Amino acid sequence: MVDKNINKETVVLHADGEWKQKEGTVAPAIYYTATFSANDPTEFAEMAGTPRHGNYYTRYGNPVHDRVISIMAELEGTETALVSSSGMGAIATTLLSLVSAGDHVIAQTRHYMSTTKIMDEMLPRFGVETTVVEQADVKNFEEAIRPNTKLIMIETPVNPTLVVTDIEAVVEFAKKHGILVVADNTFASPINQRPHDFGVDVIVHSATKYLGGHHDITAGVICTSNELAEKIWDTHTSLGSVLSPMDAWLLLRGLRTLPVRMERINENALRLAKFLEQLPQIENVYYPGLESHPQHGIAKKQMKGFGAVIAFAIKGDYAATQRFVSSLKLTTNAVSLGGVESLAVHTASMWEGALNEEQMKTAGIPVNFVRFSVGLEHIEDLKADVLQALKSI
Ligand SMILES: *Cc1c(COP(=O)(O)O)cnc(C)c1O
Repeated sequence: MVDKNINKETVVLHADGEWKQKEGTVAPAIYYTATFSANDPTEFAEMAGTPRHGNYYTRYGNPVHDRVISIMAELEGTETALVSSSGMGAIATTLLSLVSAGDHVIAQTRHYMSTTKIMDEMLPRFGVETTVVEQADVKNFEEAIRPNTKLIMIETPVNPTLVVTDIEAVVEFAKKHGILVVADNTFASPINQRPHDFGVDVIVHSATKYLGGHHDITAGVICTSNELAEKIWDTHTSLGSVLSPMDAWLLLRGLRTLPVRMERINENALRLAKFLEQLPQIENVYYPGLESHPQHGIAKKQMKGFGAVIAFAIKGDYAATQRFVSSLKLTTNAVSLGGVESLAVHTASMWEGALNEEQMKTAGIPVNFVRFSVGLEHIEDLKADVLQALKSI
C-alpha cells in the first residue's frame, strides 16, 4: 500500500517497493519455480494453511504475481487483486465462483465474444439463467431483475460501435437489490476508468491489451475486495488458469509505462477520430471521445480518456474496405488492441467463411466497418497513412 495521494505514474513504479527492498535488486526477480521450499514442518504447515500464499505453489501464487497484484489493486482502487493466464481465465473464474445453479445473471447484448458464449451457452448448462439486455439504455438492466438475480455483468465501452454503459446508474439499482456488479474494464484501462469508484464489486481485465501493452503476452487480472478475492481464488486454484512467472514479469514491465502510454494513446486516438470524422470518404466514426458519439455525456462522466479503439465505416463495399485495410502501411492486420503499435481489422472479414454478405447484414455487421487500435506512432504519420490507403477504395 502506498500513500493515497500518490499519482498513477508513481504507483506503477513504487506500489511493489516492498519486494524491491526484500530482494535487493532494481529489476524484479523472476521466480521461475512451480513450488517453494519450507525450512521446517511448522513453516510448511503455515504455508499450506494460508490462502493466497505467494511462496507455496505457483498455481496458488508466486512473488511476481504478488507484485502485479499490488500495482493493479492501487490502480483500480480495490483492496486486492488476482492474476490469471488470460482475460477469459479471469472472466470465467470470476463468474463460476460467484454464481450457482438457480441464480440469474444479467449481461449485455454485446460483450467480448467469449463472454457472450459463457452467458448464452456455458452458464445455462450449469443451471444458471441469463438475460442479455441492450446496454445503451440503463433501464433495461433494472427491468430484467428477478428475485434470484445474483450478478450483473457490464463491459464499457464495448465492441463494435463503442457503446457505453452508465456504470453509476447500474450500480445504484444493483445495490438496492443486493446484486453483485462485475465490470470488464479492458477497453477503458484503469487509467481512463475506475469502476470501483462507482461501487462496482469486481473489475476484470484482459491484461493482454493495455496492461501488458506490447502484444506479447496473454494475461488477465481480477480486482476486488479481500473477501471476494478469497472466494474467487478458491475457484481459481481448481480451474487452474495460472499466469506463468515469466508472463507475470512481462506484465509487470508493461505496467511501469501504462500511464504514459495511455496518455499518448488517448491523445493520438482522439486526434485520429476527429480527423476521420471530417474526411469525405468516411461514412461514420464511432469513438466515445467524439461529441457526435450518442453517449458522449456518459463517457465524459465516467472516463478520463477514451482509449485506443476507433471504429469507422468507409464509403465503400466489402471489397473496398478490405482494400483499405490492406493498403495501410503502418498498421498490422491483426486482432487485439491496446499495444504500442497500431492494428486494424476489417470487422466483417473476421466472420468470412461463417456468414455471407446477406447474413452479415441480418446480423448487423456492416461490411464497411474497420476497427482501428491506435498505437504510439506519430499522429501525423498515422493520418498520412490513412489518407494514402483511402485512395485504394
Ligand atoms: C481480449 C478481451 C477479452 C479476453 O481476453 P484474453 O486475454 O484474450 O483472454 C475479454 N474482454 C475484452 C473486452 C477483451 O478485449
